[in-house]
Amino acid sequence: MRAALETASAFVTATRMARPGLSRAAFDHWQHRMLRRWLARDVRGVRAYQGGATELQDLPIRDKATLMADFAAYNRAGISADQAWQAIGDTCRIGDFTVGASTGTSGNRGVFVISEPERYRWLGTVLAKTMGGLWGRRQRVAIILPQDTRLYDSARSLPLMQLRFFDLRSGPENWRTELEAFDPSVLIAPPKLLRHVAQQQFRLRPQRIFSAAETLDPMDRSVIETCFGQALEQIYMATEGLLAVTCRQGGLHLAEESMFFEFEPAGNGLVNPVISSFRRQTQILARYRMNDLLRLAERPCACGSPLRLVEEVVGRVDDCFHLTGAAGPVFLTPDVLRNAILDSDRRITDFRLIQVAVDEIELRLTTDLPDEAAQAAATAVDQLLACRQATCRITQKRATLTFDPSRKLRRVECRLGPDMRWAAR
Ligand SMILES: [Zn+2]
Repeated sequence: MRAALETASAFVTATRMARPGLSRAAFDHWQHRMLRRWLARDVRGVRAYQGGATELQDLPIRDKATLMADFAAYNRAGISADQAWQAIGDTCRIGDFTVGASTGTSGNRGVFVISEPERYRWLGTVLAKTMGGLWGRRQRVAIILPQDTRLYDSARSLPLMQLRFFDLRSGPENWRTELEAFDPSVLIAPPKLLRHVAQQQFRLRPQRIFSAAETLDPMDRSVIETCFGQALEQIYMATEGLLAVTCRQGGLHLAEESMFFEFEPAGNGLVNPVISSFRRQTQILARYRMNDLLRLAERPCACGSPLRLVEEVVGRVDDCFHLTGAAGPVFLTPDVLRNAILDSDRRITDFRLIQVAVDEIELRLTTDLPDEAAQAAATAVDQLLACRQATCRITQKRATLTFDPSRKLRRVECRLGPDMRWAAR
């Protein structure tokens, strides 16, 4: 009963606060009230914030390193990172709490802890944001993600939909038949899997398709949209929670009904979000700096929602390139590098660009790509570096860029150690 109530109440809040015609001023007023209540009631309940604060701005900015260094200080249950990792390897449960981990590379993974009511609140919010226009008929929702958490288990029993989970890491060859037999009306998966499904011609006919859990690159979007003959929608979520979801007009709106966003400039018109998750009571994320890079939209969305629009989730701060040049350090964001390659020749549909040393970048292209297209890509990167006065050599490699379900796809990747990153905070 409690579960249904929490789900329904979160559903109503998410729908109400995103409704067309609600003014931004009215939304801000409501959000400020929620923030104040959270600061007074929940934030001071964890050891890290025992002194409390009346205004959010009085709290320091935190990041993954500070959080993981003393995880127990930031959650009401006092669960340490070691305890959380132990439970993740086992049942993902500690008492009444659920723990989970992000799918990042080892050593860089974050953990989270949530209570049962929070799990249902999360579900209500996700449903409100993704199921618009689909009510009335029982939906079959297929979620294909690395199953690191029991977060999604809560929905299996809902009367309005049938949910089925497919473990990305075990590989599609293990569940392709089951997925096709399930015949999902809604498909949620990382873009690399959706592209694989499209190219391998899985027999599926979903009404709605959501890209989730990884950065969505334009060439994946076009392959997926062309194959399924419909617009691809997006769910932007992380260990830190649900951050943004596309509306029916295709605008990617921040989940401001559960999170307060501050933005730090990250260069090249991009921002680095600092979030305060004011609906969460177990683990406190207050002024928490994410590792993501966003480009915010300048225009409002045609749907009329007061929630802010994101033009693009560009990638991760960790994947920015740190180069040197005659005029000093050169910092390049993943989107600029990606666009230089994609714009150089239309035949390029996949690539990897990896910074392997301070003065060396490796460009990997598929074996079937014509030589002149490969040369165009290398020239484009070279020109970009010259334009920014960076001193760096580009090594070209040809490889079969295979679909790897076991790791997160990052086409632009920086493999420098933390001490080599001059721009590291
Ligand atoms: Zn919209």
